[in-house]
Amino acid sequence: MYVIDGHCDALLKMVENPAIDFFDPQASALDVSYAKMAQGGVKLQFFAIYLSERITQPQFDHYLEYINIFYQKVMRDPRMRQVKNRTDLEAVLTGNQTGAMLTLEGADALQGNPLYLRTLYHLGVRMIGTTWNYANWAADGVLEPRQGGFTRRGKTFIKDCNDLGMLLDASHLSEPAFWDLTAASAKPFVATHSNARAVCGHPRNLNDGQIREIIRRDGRIGVTFVPWFVQQGQASIDGVLLHVEHICSLGGGSQLVFGSDFDGIDQWIPGLEHAGKIRCLTEALLRRFPEELVRGFMYRNWVTFLHRHLPIH
Ligand SMILES: [Zn+2]
Repeated sequence: MYVIDGHCDALLKMVENPAIDFFDPQASALDVSYAKMAQGGVKLQFFAIYLSERITQPQFDHYLEYINIFYQKVMRDPRMRQVKNRTDLEAVLTGNQTGAMLTLEGADALQGNPLYLRTLYHLGVRMIGTTWNYANWAADGVLEPRQGGFTRRGKTFIKDCNDLGMLLDASHLSEPAFWDLTAASAKPFVATHSNARAVCGHPRNLNDGQIREIIRRDGRIGVTFVPWFVQQGQASIDGVLLHVEHICSLGGGSQLVFGSDFDGIDQWIPGLEHAGKIRCLTEALLRRFPEELVRGFMYRNWVTFLHRHLPIH
């Protein structure tokens, strides 16, 4: 069964360690490598531009450095196809190539500049999470003590993204920013890597009101494999299933997707340590849910969303 994974930080590792080879079957430094994606049946991977926390003054050039690494290391081989539109998506789903989509996590260096935003779009970035955990010019992140929402410039940015066809990611937003996004965005949005707070009380997880709102607007919720967002103590695949069950109980069976956060974590759920292991999750889901529903979680819910919201070509 195909898998579409809505979030990973493999580009950060490749920027920080240029010796890493994405196509090396022994690339042990990466949770998401070509070989592991093939092993796990991952047909489309979202690659986040996530600047290291060590960069205290993010510049647009930093984004370009990541995009350059993406082309040099991931897209250099014809086995890969960048997914920028529906034509690419169909080609990946029906052919032998593996898909890769660029996303941005933390719009700090965009500084509200529409030219920067458009340039990222031209380079193939198709989704933006406005903040990481802290505040920037546009909005407050989930760990920002003052817990503000979107700024005036940030709300203009939401509209610019809507107009351009840039998808928006609500993971990492503060709760007030989440509701500002809901009010300001004319289009449905995604939380690419967040779990259910009712199951695990971490602030990065979504409460039931937020989950219901994403479902109501037919956005997508990416259940993530970050152990401390799954459960307190030793996290397990069964723990991931609790989040799936909860989101389904709120009516989200057609909105639930996955966003692993691989290569952004230094602890892993046993049996779910890298992209090659995702079949263990699929098997556990198939023991608990009907196959049609599991197909939705693993790829089809992403496909319907992307089909609706990516440009035709
Ligand atoms: Zn993240």
